[in-house]
Amino acid sequence: MKSLSKKVANKTSSNQWILVWCAVVLQSFVFLPAKANEQNLSYSQLIEKIKTEQVSEILLDPITNRAIVTLNNEKQPREVYLFQQNNSELISLMRQKNLDFGVSSSVSDVEPVRVMGNIFLLLLFLGALVMLFRRAANASGQAMNFGKSRARFHMEAKTGITFQDVAGIEEAKEELQEVVTFLKQPEKFTSVGAKIPRGVLLVGPPGTGKTLMAKAIAGEAGVPFFSISGSEFVEMFVGVGASRVRDLFKKAKENAPCLIFIDEIDAVGRQRGTGIGGGNDEREQTLNQLLTEMDGFERNTGIIVIAATNRMDVLDTALLRPGRFDRRITIDNPDFKERLAILEVHAQNKKIAPEVSLEAIARRTPGFSGADLANLLNEAAIFTGRRRKLEITMTEINDAVDRVIAGMEGTPLVDSKSKRLIAYHELGHAIVATLMPGHYPLEKVTLIPRGQAKGLTWYTPDEEMYLMSRSQLLAQITSTLGGRAAEEVIFGEDEVTTGAAQDIQQVTSIAGPMVTQFGMSDLGPIFLEESKETVFLGGDWGKRSEHSEEIASRIDVQVRSIVKNCYKSAKQIITENRDLIDYLVDILIEKETIAGDEFRRLIAEYQENKPKILTLG
Ligand code: ADP
Ligand code: MG
Ligand code: ZN
Repeated sequence: MKSLSKKVANKTSSNQWILVWCAVVLQSFVFLPAKANEQNLSYSQLIEKIKTEQVSEILLDPITNRAIVTLNNEKQPREVYLFQQNNSELISLMRQKNLDFGVSSSVSDVEPVRVMGNIFLLLLFLGALVMLFRRAANASGQAMNFGKSRARFHMEAKTGITFQDVAGIEEAKEELQEVVTFLKQPEKFTSVGAKIPRGVLLVGPPGTGKTLMAKAIAGEAGVPFFSISGSEFVEMFVGVGASRVRDLFKKAKENAPCLIFIDEIDAVGRQRGTGIGGGNDEREQTLNQLLTEMDGFERNTGIIVIAATNRMDVLDTALLRPGRFDRRITIDNPDFKERLAILEVHAQNKKIAPEVSLEAIARRTPGFSGADLANLLNEAAIFTGRRRKLEITMTEINDAVDRVIAGMEGTPLVDSKSKRLIAYHELGHAIVATLMPGHYPLEKVTLIPRGQAKGLTWYTPDEEMYLMSRSQLLAQITSTLGGRAAEEVIFGEDEVTTGAAQDIQQVTSIAGPMVTQFGMSDLGPIFLEESKETVFLGGDWGKRSEHSEEIASRIDVQVRSIVKNCYKSAKQIITENRDLIDYLVDILIEKETIAGDEFRRLIAEYQENKPKILTLG
């Protein structure tokens, strides 16, 4: 009987730690109850089983007043609750049947685990508290030792990114290929007396792959990649930024050859002496330090600094001097072919249905940056997962494009007066766009809300619109006003709504430049840019009017007349096609979305049948 109790005890201790862990994990979700086993026997059943000799082992537990009973034909022991400790009836019966029985000191299998689990949770909680306090103490301590500047830059020994991961920007890649060679085999250049450039400036809008490119250069050259963001230089205390620059270059020198990447350099590299109240001392010091460091390290030491910005116009000219960022490479948003290449790169690690045409996606996404395209495919993959499909299909991709452009899809309105008004408004846009020559084709019109919009009319720009003619711009203004025009024609002047606010803003942003920049009004081809940016307030705020009030009012008259004429023609198109719109409105309300092709087909069909209806009537 001794051996038996040992066996049970051993079993508990060997699995104890695993059980503790399980209990900790489980407790946070379900809180194990000290629940009785379903397999329990009643006391009388136990007596019965002993009498009929069905029991092979019994272990008595004095603490919980239980007997743990193993039946002949079962492996899993059962529990029996006893009335009292010295149950003479049971013991004598067991003696009589010559049964193997022992006494266990364990409370139960689950009990110690529960207790330990709770203690563990408590410790965990205390630990978290201590950490929180430490952190708070650190944060306040930081103010005290700012001079030391804890390094804020990041270092990657290997970026693991190569030129293959960067798609589309071929010219930039070619130019930067040389930088890779500078880092890898500087002798090639130094042996013929060439000086290796210190800095390269990448200029371009956000998400075009500047950071990616810099990482790819480091990856191709196999050198460490140091990076810091301009905004991380700028801190509350004067001198912190400068000391960070010093630290960064010190570390870089220790690790040469290497690449230093400074993101958002415009945050520190703005023209000096232009801040409010005579300049931002901190930023100036940081910039001065940066310039000193860049002059300080010998050429050919194998450090190359790459900086990125999206606005070169605000940079201090001292940064652009030879010997600093003397190479500048512009990266623009990708065109059709480049978008296709970027999509191909990002499609590689995704399961995409064979019928999906990356070309069609590239065509639908003018103005998307590389980051937008990467995000687009990721959104599509998320949709696919959510819909429990195995492959990304065109439906998910189209939904993702809509989402990236216009925001999250909302629930459609129920049929009501306002739904009807929105339907007329959207059809106003769609009809004018379809019937105006020179407008890009309708992609779809929908009453499913997205983001801020309650309904949307989409167009497909069928080519890259580098140049737009006057008539194309006018067509765009007219279709944009089509929504408001429809509201007015159908519901009357007093019923027009606030729904056209966005449209009106857009119209103004097209008509204004037509007059002031493109010379497309009666004022003639004169550049009348309304305000000129100055660097007076760091380049952002100081806008100063360049021309007299008289000219300003003449510009105003011209803009008004463009918008007024376009509105007139929008109203005219809608009035003339009132019956067609009434016909389409019911279809749109019922289907909620009409695709461009179908929309054009519906119009064609209607116009074909119209004469017949007229003669019949
Ligand atoms: P930037 O630094 O210009 O703002 P990033 O380099 O951070 O842009 O780009 C963000 C992400 O967008 C990248 O990680 C990459 O996934 C994607 N991306 C951007 N441009 C490209 C490109 N030309 N080729 C492939 N992927 C790109
Ligand atoms: Mg970046
Ligand atoms: Zn509208």
